[in-house]
Amino acid sequence: MPAPDSRITSRRRELRGASGWMLLLSAMLPLAANSAAGEGAPPLFGFTAQEGAAQRSLEQRFDADLNPAELREWLKNLASAPNHVGSPHDRANAEFVRDLFRQWGWQAQIEVFEVLYPTLKEHSLELVAPTRFTASLTEPPVAGDATSGVAGIMPPYNVYGADGDVTGELVYLNYGMAKDYQELARRGIDVRGKIVITRYGSGWRGLKPKLAQEHGAIACIIYSDPHDDGYAQGEVYPQGGWRPPAGVQRGSVLDLTLYSGDPLTPDVGATKDAKRLALADARTILKIPVMPISYADAEPLLAVLSGPVAPPKWRGALPITYHLGPGPARVHLVIRSDWSLKPVYDVIAKIPGHESPDAWVVRGNHRDGWVFGAWDPLSGQVAMLAEAKAIGALVKSGWRPKRTLVYASWDGEEPGLLGSTEWAETHAAELRRDAVLYLNSDTNSRGFLGAGGSHSLQHLVNEVASGIRDPETGVSTQARLRAHMLAQGYARESDEEEEPEEVRREARLAEAGGDLPIRALGSGSDYTPFLQHLGLTALSIEYHGEEDQAGVYHSSYDSFDHYVRFGDPTFAYGVAEAETAGHVVLRMADADVLPFEFTGFANTIGAYAEELHKLTDEKRKKSAELARLLDENAFGLAADPTRVVGPPAREPPVPQLDFAPLDGVVARLKASARAYDEAYARLLAGTLRLEAAKRARLNALLQGMEQKLTDERGLPGRLWYRHFVYAPGALTGYGVKTLPGVREAVDANRWEEAAAYLPITAAVLARYCDALDQATALLQGS
Ligand SMILES: [Zn+2]
Repeated sequence: MPAPDSRITSRRRELRGASGWMLLLSAMLPLAANSAAGEGAPPLFGFTAQEGAAQRSLEQRFDADLNPAELREWLKNLASAPNHVGSPHDRANAEFVRDLFRQWGWQAQIEVFEVLYPTLKEHSLELVAPTRFTASLTEPPVAGDATSGVAGIMPPYNVYGADGDVTGELVYLNYGMAKDYQELARRGIDVRGKIVITRYGSGWRGLKPKLAQEHGAIACIIYSDPHDDGYAQGEVYPQGGWRPPAGVQRGSVLDLTLYSGDPLTPDVGATKDAKRLALADARTILKIPVMPISYADAEPLLAVLSGPVAPPKWRGALPITYHLGPGPARVHLVIRSDWSLKPVYDVIAKIPGHESPDAWVVRGNHRDGWVFGAWDPLSGQVAMLAEAKAIGALVKSGWRPKRTLVYASWDGEEPGLLGSTEWAETHAAELRRDAVLYLNSDTNSRGFLGAGGSHSLQHLVNEVASGIRDPETGVSTQARLRAHMLAQGYARESDEEEEPEEVRREARLAEAGGDLPIRALGSGSDYTPFLQHLGLTALSIEYHGEEDQAGVYHSSYDSFDHYVRFGDPTFAYGVAEAETAGHVVLRMADADVLPFEFTGFANTIGAYAEELHKLTDEKRKKSAELARLLDENAFGLAADPTRVVGPPAREPPVPQLDFAPLDGVVARLKASARAYDEAYARLLAGTLRLEAAKRARLNALLQGMEQKLTDERGLPGRLWYRHFVYAPGALTGYGVKTLPGVREAVDANRWEEAAAYLPITAAVLARYCDALDQATALLQGS
């Protein structure tokens, strides 16, 4: 369920320095080793010259088995009927995927969990004043889209809102984010007892009703404005790919910033006999009803609002004057659901490793869609299936991975990462002990490499991408991404609008010529329980950026017919995805010593720490400036006296924070990383040798490195989240917050908490340095 807006607004492609492994390695590798690799191929990170040559030829055999026609056929089959949790086709797809794995030589089975998954029984929305209108709440068939309008489509709804029957005045609230409430307050408007209507976009959908509830609203309507993904963006479906007037974005409003997965079983797997919370005690479920609607249904409601005209940035693309209300528009909204438990079917397939069967490379993609789910998630699912088939063929030809491969086809991702979270919680002890990687994908389409995750694998991802051919240009997907980052940076130089800082930083790093930055991960897909709860090394790898997907995201028009027109018509990017993810899997499975690189990680942490300094300084300046302007009554004098817009609220003064422990550990981390990376380069160059027992100890240390970044005490207010470098933002949802213990406190002006979490975060990073130094000592003592 990667929301299109999460791609744009929450990307944090953080950096690493430009030092570059290639330089280091080419300086250290004797010429003889290069020629031993044959054809002068550059060394393969994680492998000696000789092993590298064998690995490359293995990957060539793997690539030769990937067939775009098969991806297309699987997609058509899987997306042929609605496959949401609890639907007959969801189960049929699980069995179909399990049988494919078995046919390809994998040990495959279905693991079933019982989760709370409310489904609609009844819903309605009527405008009752000043005029009358009944919302259709349906998505009619569209010409040329074979599955649109078929039986079994669940009506659009937001799962995990409350049931209710409410009537109230409407207030228009833009994107419904925290700063929108501040603007509303300056205009003297309050949402208590009102029904708010917000548009999709800007932040994660679940925050909109959560904030509405906190501010006293009695219900929340979320609609898709054509400004954001409809006719203002491009031709609408079926002429183009954008959202048609009746298209609705479904989606979960589960509060996954507290914990993901089944709301009734935090921390434990939702097995048949699991101990469950009472419904009233499930903190991730909202207390007010929430309803998603189309712009065809929203326009008549918005058109009859009066009150102040909405601020310029709040206005969408409907042919009306946007007013804030409250009223005179009054609506009557009803939602009733079936709150029974439903089964989710995870397909888990294994190929045991021949050398280290207790080390697992785990790869997953979800299989459930909101309706047909051709884009989200089946485009990623079929790439993963292609990998599994090619790996099966390698095994049949006599090859076996050194480490165990675990491929997972998750169910129940859309409602709240249910299938992956319940599996991760059920197998938590084994995963913490054995997993060396969790590699995720989701929606995949034409465009650019989008990689995120643990920065200790940033170099591996760059190495792999440098060997994947971009289908549209013929250069490597790494070279194309570099060009994309440079072009974006150039364009943003003259466009001060959105996130210029981030895009420019990416461009600077791309320009520097070293590894391209991978993003830090927030949430919105199945990596969350593995990375942020268990602390496993994790990656997310997808192609995207040239799609017109946003327009059908989570609607019944996310179909096979739409995908083959606007997503990836030749399935060449499905194949590129299978190559990229597959090569990462094969290298993690077969490298004698796991292919981590820590300099990029250390530089990234250094950049995050610098951001915290800057953020705190800027907040201090800003709050002082605001205080001065308020003291001088500047806002009062500047205001138009015929309109009521009050001054912004005063902010507390920002104290000086003691950054010394954090800065100190960052310096230590950089030194520790350099020492390890140099020793590892010598190992790969053959100037160090490591006996088997020591190698096993080293791999065990490396396997547990990411877990050193977690702390059992968890993050403030949400103990399920334990990772102290990456977390989904409590106020951004899918968007990431790095060094979240400190950053979220700074964001929210909780200065005592920020001061407390600086040394805690530093202590977590120090434990990571300790483990890294042990790993280096093992290498150097060899
Ligand atoms: Zn998805």
